[in-house]
Amino acid sequence: MKISDIYKNKGKKILSFEIFPPKKDDELKNIEPTLDILSELKPDYISVTFGAGGSSNNNKTIDLARKIKEVYHIEPVVHLTGLAYSKQEIDEFAKAIADAGIENILALRGDINPNVPSKNDFRYASDLIEYLKPRTDFCILGACYPEDHPESPNHVSEMHNLKHKVDLGAEVLLSQLFFDNSHFYAFEEDARIAGIDVPITPGIMPAIKASQIQRMVNTCGAVLPEKFQKIIDKYGDNDEAMYDAGMVYALNQIVDLLTTGVDGIHLYTMNNPKVARTICDGIKNIINV
Ligand code: FAD
Repeated sequence: MKISDIYKNKGKKILSFEIFPPKKDDELKNIEPTLDILSELKPDYISVTFGAGGSSNNNKTIDLARKIKEVYHIEPVVHLTGLAYSKQEIDEFAKAIADAGIENILALRGDINPNVPSKNDFRYASDLIEYLKPRTDFCILGACYPEDHPESPNHVSEMHNLKHKVDLGAEVLLSQLFFDNSHFYAFEEDARIAGIDVPITPGIMPAIKASQIQRMVNTCGAVLPEKFQKIIDKYGDNDEAMYDAGMVYALNQIVDLLTTGVDGIHLYTMNNPKVARTICDGIKNIINV
């Protein structure tokens, strides 16, 4: 099923998870306990990340997505990055994805990495969307950034580029993680003013380890609100306390988003079923009210 149809037809909030493929072959079966728990929570779809090039892990993304569909009967979304690949390589990935019966891709540029040369066929996600749209039957999703992409020169060009991505065929947008909902609300309003009318789903990552939070903030440029910085200052050295505080913070973010009226929640699970379960237990009686 196409993810755009899930958003159109469900008449409820859409719950989705993101997972990543294990690095080693023999770990693919170890992801089963995670998937067992994630599937119990009945997400509307699960997206699977894709390497930005330089690794051979990307076929594992497709294998894992196929497993999600065939074994767990949950709709998968395969992330697909363009920057490090040629048109021929993208054609091969697209064929493998379609042959696996997968109908949805999240079309991405991929991060610029000095160790992975870019191939110039797909400089931006919009190039990938423009290429795939007339050649394939995928429902295409795109990424968006409530606090603007770290490389963005200004907010106006960010909005302009996002609108271009949607005009070329992105039917659903998934957001980068953020810790301050006011950024998401301002971004969503600007996107609507810019004429972007597709579902925009906020991405939430429960931040449960102080070291991981710093890494995430450095990579994606999300601003840590003072309220959250205080949590790290107080509980950062105590794993159990940081877990509890990080989960409560994420749950508060989700409840605020749901009560304000978002299309759904995309949860970055970090392949941690305990995190997904804690969140789902916390919102099970409110997600569809
Ligand atoms: P783009 O949409 O191309 O945007 C990148 C920057 O270029 C933006 O500032 C944009 O405004 C600008 N831009 C766009 N078009 C133009 C243009 N025509 N002219 C000038 N500037 C332009 N990375 C992975 O490697 N694997 C993953 O699985 C993965 N999953 C992700 C999932 C989500 C939900 C998100 C939010 C990110 C994910 N990423 C992943 C990270 C992503 O690859 C990086 O953030 C990357 O730097 C940008 O990708 P994009 O598709 O948003 O790029």
